[in-house]
Amino acid sequence: MRAINKRNRETRLNKSPPLSTNPDGLLNLARLQLSPNRDSRPESATLDLVVIHGISLPAGKFGGAAISQLFLNQLDCSAKTNFAALNGLRVSAHLLIDRHGQLTQYVPFTERAWHAGQSSWQGRENCNDFALGIELEGSDEIAYTPAQYDRLVEVLALLITAYPGITARHITGHSMIAPGRKTDPGPAFNWPALRRRLAALGEYQAT
Ligand SMILES: [Zn+2]
Repeated sequence: MRAINKRNRETRLNKSPPLSTNPDGLLNLARLQLSPNRDSRPESATLDLVVIHGISLPAGKFGGAAISQLFLNQLDCSAKTNFAALNGLRVSAHLLIDRHGQLTQYVPFTERAWHAGQSSWQGRENCNDFALGIELEGSDEIAYTPAQYDRLVEVLALLITAYPGITARHITGHSMIAPGRKTDPGPAFNWPALRRRLAALGEYQAT
């Protein structure tokens, strides 16, 4: 028995520490690349929504630096013809989960990121005021990776614990808060699987 416990402990020590967030709204395991595209939430706003997005730059291509460059206002919009539409765009998200499940944080959770645009959720406009934005590196029609789902569930479980207003039912997609204007994270995103995994964590709440 003692040997088994020791082995478990050693296994844990070889893994990265558990995901956590500090009082400044920063994740311990995320690479930090602070975006200038952020500001304060309105004082009356309560953080109670997570918006899931999908993004790839160029569209359908994964693994490059263009997403971070976009959020840092460093994207050379003349580099690719399909970047021209992004010229002058000032956008960000709180987090990016890449195809390998690696995390990059651009905006502290305590601040407002600029990810939702014109949007409405349950009759409330301007979702950026009260939401966190999580980008998954991906495309509407290409399956997201198991590593991304694993990391997303880990992040959502933490956010549900850390922020009382966020529950499993307060997690939505960009296409749902900006219908007709946005399609991400797209039909490739497996909502039933996400809901099942959150429920299995015991995080599912009826509110
Ligand atoms: Zn989006």
